[in-house]
Amino acid sequence: MTERLYYSDPYRRQFEATLIESFSWDGQPAVVLSRSAFYPTGGGQPHDTGWLGGVPVLDVVEREADKAVIHVLEAALPGQKEVSGEVDWLRRFDHMQQHTGQHVLSQAAERLLGAETVGFHLGETASTIDLNRAPLSAEQLDRLETEANQVVFENRPVVARFVSREALASLPLRKPPQVSGPIRIVEIQGFDWSPCGGTHVRATGEVGSIKIVRAERRGDETRVEFLCGSRALADYRTKNRLLLRLASHLSVGYWELDEAVERLEGEAREQRKAAQAAQEQFLDLEADSIASQGEPLDGFSLVSRAFQDRSLDEVKRLALRLAEQHRCVALLGLASDKGHLVFAAPQDSAYDLRPILRQACAVIGGGGGGRPHLAQGGGPVGELARVQQALEVARQIFGQP
Ligand SMILES: [Zn+2]
Repeated sequence: MTERLYYSDPYRRQFEATLIESFSWDGQPAVVLSRSAFYPTGGGQPHDTGWLGGVPVLDVVEREADKAVIHVLEAALPGQKEVSGEVDWLRRFDHMQQHTGQHVLSQAAERLLGAETVGFHLGETASTIDLNRAPLSAEQLDRLETEANQVVFENRPVVARFVSREALASLPLRKPPQVSGPIRIVEIQGFDWSPCGGTHVRATGEVGSIKIVRAERRGDETRVEFLCGSRALADYRTKNRLLLRLASHLSVGYWELDEAVERLEGEAREQRKAAQAAQEQFLDLEADSIASQGEPLDGFSLVSRAFQDRSLDEVKRLALRLAEQHRCVALLGLASDKGHLVFAAPQDSAYDLRPILRQACAVIGGGGGGRPHLAQGGGPVGELARVQQALEVARQIFGQP
């Protein structure tokens, strides 16, 4: 079994140890040492990284069988017996801040909300606890955050010690221990007692701050995402910059962003309405103009036109206008990424446009269907000349040259 130096001194970054085993772990060189300051993944806390004899440590895991700490390395160690190790301190201290913050937050949730922590995850960028209470209001979460930070400000000592099973009974543990033998208890003085094998800061002040960034209801539980210490600061920096940038774009103070965005949304709505009205007017005029050039056809009027660079929806609306308001048989085409045809005839006419449309669509390599008075189709060929050709085919069916 590896002597775990972080149990007694989580601030120890450098150490000397004797090489016990050297082997391959998932295809990577790995070693077990007589002692180690490296924390192996477990208890919701990710492993440390760092260096052994200058070689990067990629992963640290606990071996199930004998609880040995396995250091997975980037390259094999040269054959020496004594090894010096160094833990990547920035990563470790970040984990200590998040983990201690979690103890504080969990105890505060229990005291304030009667909510037990049933899950904990310390992630690469954010951490979460799952509370067995839902839903939690914004006001409850604010109070939880305030209470937790009060404990940070009080700078209470955090002490870890091994306690016998018998002595456990006298401690107000937040959760029952999950391992046998002597239990490591992490005490936040006068506030929280938890069985835990992780690494923690020596006083709550070093957590810096605890920020709840999000809460999400999951059935009977609430998942609370939080950031501590440097992570909270980095998050504040990012969001503050973003707010100031947005405010500067909109030429308002950041506290006026809500109103400014609402105003923009209103303006955009008005503009959409105005654009729509203008488009309707334009389509009316366009329909007038096209209809005036129609050729007589059994009491109706035949028009055909191919377009480019506009939406299929617009072409369809134009075809309907021509049929309903101008009593036209309208053969319209659209050349874009593909070829499209839209044929429309007045409702009271006897035309069935579908077979005509199918013949025309064959020119652009496709097909179509619809109703007798409104048929639509297309094909993969999108060149304007071919779409015009397809319309010609339809015109000829109507007996037009
Ligand atoms: Zn812990």
